[in-house]
Amino acid sequence: MASIFSRIVAGEIPSYKVAEDDKFFAFLDINPLAKGHTLVIPKREVDYFFDLTDEEIGAMQIFAKKVATAIKEAFPCVKVGQAVLGLEVPHAHIHLVPMQSEKDMLFTNPKLKLTAEEFAEIAQKINSSLPQ
Ligand code: 5GP
Repeated sequence: MASIFSRIVAGEIPSYKVAEDDKFFAFLDINPLAKGHTLVIPKREVDYFFDLTDEEIGAMQIFAKKVATAIKEAFPCVKVGQAVLGLEVPHAHIHLVPMQSEKDMLFTNPKLKLTAEEFAEIAQKINSSLPQ
């Protein structure tokens, strides 16, 4: 059974896509800590982030860097924070969260409730800030 994130990559489950290449996919977290909270995943389904190969981790980080740069341009913040948890979804992923302060990275914080229109607008804004 494919993970929920593999089903998102396959288009079987809708998502607000931010970026994609042949190996990686970035989309908005459905329960965001902040506007612009994005997940970066490898298309190859691996549960634990540190089970990815060295090459995959390197390439994924470079892909995440591009997405983080676009997030910061679209949603001005002090820095974009990065976290790897993976306690809920068994498909490796990097969280990218625009931070105004350290407390914005607390995953126990209440999540934002956004409308479909807001999610679509956020994804579009980040996507259009990516280098062409
Ligand atoms: P973690 O596995 O890192 O503890 O948390 C998984 C993250 O994935 C959570 O922040 C959760 O909101 C997000 N998430 C879980 N299911 C979905 C989904 O179906 N779509 C999207 N866009 N995000 C999801």
